[in-house]
Amino acid sequence: MSDTPIGILGGTFDPIHFGHLRLAEEMLELANLRQIRFIPTGTPPHRDAPQVSAQHRSAMVRLAISGQPAFVLDEREVNRNTSCYTVDTLHELRAELGAAQPLCLLMGGDAFLQLHTWHEWEQLFGLAHIVVGYRPGFTLEERIHTATPVLCRHYQQRLCSVEALSQQPCGGITELAIPKLEISATDIRRRVAEGRTIRYLLPDAVSGYIYQHHLYQPC
Ligand code: ATP
Repeated sequence: MSDTPIGILGGTFDPIHFGHLRLAEEMLELANLRQIRFIPTGTPPHRDAPQVSAQHRSAMVRLAISGQPAFVLDEREVNRNTSCYTVDTLHELRAELGAAQPLCLLMGGDAFLQLHTWHEWEQLFGLAHIVVGYRPGFTLEERIHTATPVLCRHYQQRLCSVEALSQQPCGGITELAIPKLEISATDIRRRVAEGRTIRYLLPDAVSGYIYQHHLYQPC
């Protein structure tokens, strides 16, 4: 069995920026993905509430990815009223896409090291592969000892090559060296609130949307 994997990139995207877009573009290429689904969170269960509504965050993702046909906006989480977990979203995707379709949950190294704090996190391995982007020079292998022991064990047992991602529907962990742009949504929100420039940190269409809708500005 072999099928081209589909990537899944969840995030608050509050707002989406070039750090997210470069991570996705590099993973699309390096992991040979067919498509990446951007899934903005509705009410995230394990972090502070986003500053702007799910509808605004979703609209900004739509604008940001409009030039890349392999990037798809998936609004299932923002359309839900209840808080939702990644494991529930993956169950839904698995039911829609079939048992054989390889799925890859994409995330940065920092997010991976906190995976044990996610709801029903060990079920994730039965639903998708996990593809982790790490900064060149800062491999996950060197930092995995800082993770909780059970996550460390999963990492050691499940580490696999990019080629293996298309051979199985789920269960592997792959690391990809991806230069991390020093851009964060937190910094962008702070800059807008302080009236500072955000040019070249995110697509012009997204910054245009932020100013048009007076997002992140003090009341
Ligand atoms: P915030 O600053 O509000 O915490 P963020 O910019 O980190 O937000 P999220 O929406 O929380 O954005 O991130 C979604 C995913 O994108 C996570 O897996 C995170 O590790 C990754 N990510 C965020 N910023 C970058 C970046 N600059 N380079 C690579 N990956 C990133």
